[in-house]
Amino acid sequence: MEFTDSDRVKQLREQLWAFMDEQVRPAEPEYWRDFSAETIPHRIPAVMETLKAEARRRGLWNLFLPDERFGAGLTNVEYAPLAEISGWSPLAPEAMNCSAPDTGNMEVLVQFGTPEQQEKWLKPLLAGDIRSCIGMTEPDVASSDPTNIATRIESDGDDYVINGRKWWTSGAAHPKAKVVLLIGLSDPEADKYRRHTMVLVPFDTPGVSIIRQLPVFGFDDPGSHCEVSFENVRVPKSNRVGEEGIAFLIAQMRLGPGRLHHCMRMIGVAEHALSLMCERAKSRTAFGQRLAEQGVVREQIARSRVEIEQARLLCQRAAWLLDTVGNREARFEISAIKVVAPNVACNVIDRAIQVHGGAGVSKDFPLTQMYAYARSLRFMDGPDEVHLATIGREELRREDGRL
Ligand SMILES: Cc1cc2nc3c(=O)[nH]c(=O)nc-3n(C[C@H](O)[C@H](O)[C@H](O)COP(=O)(O)OP(=O)(O)OC[C@H]3O[C@@H](n4cnc5c(N)ncnc54)[C@H](O)[C@@H]3O)c2cc1C
Repeated sequence: MEFTDSDRVKQLREQLWAFMDEQVRPAEPEYWRDFSAETIPHRIPAVMETLKAEARRRGLWNLFLPDERFGAGLTNVEYAPLAEISGWSPLAPEAMNCSAPDTGNMEVLVQFGTPEQQEKWLKPLLAGDIRSCIGMTEPDVASSDPTNIATRIESDGDDYVINGRKWWTSGAAHPKAKVVLLIGLSDPEADKYRRHTMVLVPFDTPGVSIIRQLPVFGFDDPGSHCEVSFENVRVPKSNRVGEEGIAFLIAQMRLGPGRLHHCMRMIGVAEHALSLMCERAKSRTAFGQRLAEQGVVREQIARSRVEIEQARLLCQRAAWLLDTVGNREARFEISAIKVVAPNVACNVIDRAIQVHGGAGVSKDFPLTQMYAYARSLRFMDGPDEVHLATIGREELRREDGRL
C-alpha cells in the first residue's frame, strides 16, 4: 500500500489549505448569521456562491470524481487527504461541489445515467447550478433493512406513478434542490433484492410535497433533511435509472465511495476538535497549572491523537482497496471505517467539550454542532449495527475457510 502524497496531491493540499484559511473559515460567521431554516426552501447565504466561484477559480472543484471526463480524476487514496481538509469546515464540501448526497448521485448518473439524463441532471450538478437528493429512508419502516422500502412505483403506460413517504431526505429544502433519486418498490413479487427500482423525480412534479424539515439534535441543519411525500406522482419511464429491479445494486455502488467520503471528512472533523482541545488546554489554568500540564488532560489528548491515526490508516486502506480491487471487494473495510470514523470523532469531540468546560456546550465553539454531525453519521448510510453485522458475517466466513 502506498499512501505517500503524489506531487499533484501535495500541491492540491497546499491550495486547499490556502482556500480554507483565506476564504472558507473567515466566511463562517457571515454564513451562520444569514442562514435560516425558517422557510422551505431554506435561506442559503449568498456567500456560498462566492465561495463556489472561488473554489472553481482555484481548481478545487469536483475533486471527488475519479472519472476525469467529469471530475478531477483523482484516485480515492489521492482524494482522502483533501476530503479530510474539507472536514475542517461545514461550508467547504458544498463550496467545492463535493458534498453529500450530490457526490454519490453524480457518480450514479456517470455510471448508469442515459445521455439524456446526463445532459439534464448530471451537467448542472457538475456545474454546481443545482443540487440533488437521495430518497431511500421512510418513516414507516425500518429502513436500515432497505428491502423494507415500501414507497410504490407502479407502471402505467409510458409512466410510473409513485406513492409514499420518505424522510431524512438530505438537501430537500436547499433552494437549488431540483431532483431526488428515489428508490421504491416496483415489483413486490420479485426476489427481495430485485423488487426495487430507482427513478429520478423532479421536485416540481405535481404531487411532491416537502412536509417539514427535521432538525438534528435541535439544530437547524444546513443539510436540510426533510420529510417528503409523494402522492400520485407521475414521471415518464425515461426517468428510470438503470433497469427495473436493480436499485440495490446501484445503491451499493453509490454507497461505497459515498460512505468513504463521509469518513474522510469525519477524520478532518476529529482533527479540528483535537486542535480546539489543545488550544483550550494551553490557555486555561486550574489548580495552579495549565490544563495542558495536567496528566489527565494530556491522556485525553494522547488518546485522541492515537485514535485519529488509527482511523486515518483504516480509511486509507479502504480507499486503496476501492481503487485497486473495487467496491465489492472493499466492502468489509468500508463497513469497518464507517463504524470507526464517526465513533472516533464522537470520542474526540466529547473530550474536547469536557476540556472546554461549560464553554464546550455553548454556541461560542462549534463543538456541539460537530458532535451532532458525527453522532448522526452513525446512522447515515446505514447504522453501526448493520455494518458490524457485515463485518461479523465476513469474519466468520473467513474463519470457516481457514478451518
Ligand atoms: C442526518 C441524517 C441524514 C440522513 N440523510 C439521508 C438521505 O439523504 N437519504 C436517505 O434515504 N436517508 C438518510 N438518512 C437516513 C439513514 O440512512 C437512516 O436513518 C438509517 O439507514 C437507519 O434507518 P432507520 O432510521 O429507519 O432506522 P431503523 O431501521 O429503524 O433502525 C433503528 C436501529 O435498529 C438497530 N438495528 C437495525 N438493524 C440492525 C441489525 N441488523 N442488528 C442490530 N441492530 C440493528 C440499530 O441500532 C438502528 O439504529 C439520514 C439520517 C440522518 C440522521
